Amino acid sequence: MRIIINEELCTGCGVCESLCPDAFQIQDDEKAHLIDAEGCNGCDCQEAMDSCPASAISLQE
Ligand code: SF4
Repeated sequence: MRIIINEELCTGCGVCESLCPDAFQIQDDEKAHLIDAEGCNGCDCQEAMDSCPASAISLQE
């Protein structure tokens, strides 16, 4: 499974970064980027996915 961030949907709100700062990072373009999928703090990014207000995070097999 691969974590996908849809940059067109992402508003840069920072929710994913606050939940999983080792996996997600808001960068200079004010969009979330996946910096380390393995860095997820144990929620398997499900929590970030569920909490993203823009539904910009998805999993792809
Ligand atoms: S929670 Fe969603 S909209 Fe907010 S920064 Fe992360 S990917 Fe972007």
